[in-house]
Amino acid sequence: MSSCLFCSIVSGDVPAKIIRDDERTLAFRDINPQAPVHVLVIPKDHHANLSEASTDPELLAAMAKTAHEVAIDEGIATSGFRVVFNTGPDAGQTVFHVHAHLLGGRGLGWPPG
Ligand code: 5GP
Ligand code: ZN
Repeated sequence: MSSCLFCSIVSGDVPAKIIRDDERTLAFRDINPQAPVHVLVIPKDHHANLSEASTDPELLAAMAKTAHEVAIDEGIATSGFRVVFNTGPDAGQTVFHVHAHLLGGRGLGWPPG
């Protein structure tokens, strides 16, 4: 989808600090980090949100695997991390290409705001 920001990151038209790149997923640092580690994990194919991506369980498994591997690489797999899919207006989703936020490196309050 040419008008999609994250598709433009996948194609290389928009630069990003990419830290993992495999067949189906891409992981890059969030431009406005909310924690010492804040990485976005996306599928290379366009799906607007988690509801659409849920039709492909293997894709969600690939995203979870990438998030876990990044957590290991970033040194937060043992201390703990959070993976969040903001979906829809109440959750504050602003980019409509499904993405998992991987957050860690500090204590994360619960419940989230
Ligand atoms: P959402 O609010 O949709 O769950 O999350 C979108 C995320 O994308 C936000 O955390 C925001 O900081 C991040 N973001 C928005 N534009 C860019 C960009 O151009 N590059 C990167 N790396 N992250 C972005
Ligand atoms: Zn897209």
